[in-house]
Amino acid sequence: MARRKLVYEGKAKILYEGPEPGTFVQYFKDDATAFNAEKKDVIEGKGVLNNRLCEFFMTGLNQIGVPTHFLKRINMREQLIRQVEIIPLEVIVRNYAAGTMAKRLGMEEGTQLPRPIVEFSYKDDSLGDPLVPEEYIIAFGWASQQDLDDMIALALRVNDYMSGVMYGVGIKLIDFKIEIGRVWENEFMRLIVADEISPDSCRLWDIETNQKLDKDVFRRDLGSLTDAYTEVARRLGVMPTNATPMTKPTLIN
Ligand code: ADP
Ligand code: MG
Repeated sequence: MARRKLVYEGKAKILYEGPEPGTFVQYFKDDATAFNAEKKDVIEGKGVLNNRLCEFFMTGLNQIGVPTHFLKRINMREQLIRQVEIIPLEVIVRNYAAGTMAKRLGMEEGTQLPRPIVEFSYKDDSLGDPLVPEEYIIAFGWASQQDLDDMIALALRVNDYMSGVMYGVGIKLIDFKIEIGRVWENEFMRLIVADEISPDSCRLWDIETNQKLDKDVFRRDLGSLTDAYTEVARRLGVMPTNATPMTKPTLIN
């Protein structure tokens, strides 16, 4: 059997050439990184959970008419996706202050924002993904004004969907990050959600206890990341069938 061609290996995922032109296979690794890869570890099972959760969120988005790159899950760690031209921006939507926003503005984490706020950072590890104003994005030609408007609309639809889904299982969507890419259909270009949506790319707090169920558990050494992600998967009913259910409340407070 011919070996699959590696396209790109990143911090959390690997892209391989897909079976048909215009497709990739996205493999979810167990590697966890934080603070621009200064903190690193291998968290056994994380890739499997993220593949499942990402499938769940992207399938739901596709079904409600929010276009994503997701085509189908192939196995425990891999999914088939549409190849896109990634726009080199992280599109961040915030509902509550946390992380860099809380730090920058001296706000208490968890403070509800007056409305969802969309911000962009330039995707460049060597620069630490700096926050960029929309002016920069237009001036440097990363996206047009029309693209920007479409990206904001897309991000807000993802926010509404994700907030609702998470609220339904007792989880507050504090913020999240997506990447958006271009696909071409004849001479027409469309923007679609790419990369991943998982507890690696969201902040998720239990509504009752504010317990963190996302990558902050790893960033801040708050306990077992696998337990946190398993809890999210369990509540959403997307537990991998062969995973052992959580029997005791091992999560941190
Ligand atoms: P990184 O360390 O660069 O964040 P990841 O480990 O997240 O990398 O691997 C995924 C990479 O693949 C990212 O660089 C992301 O921009 C890119 N990517 C995600 N989805 C697609 C897609 N549909 N088409 C092309 N590239 C993609
Ligand atoms: Mg990434």
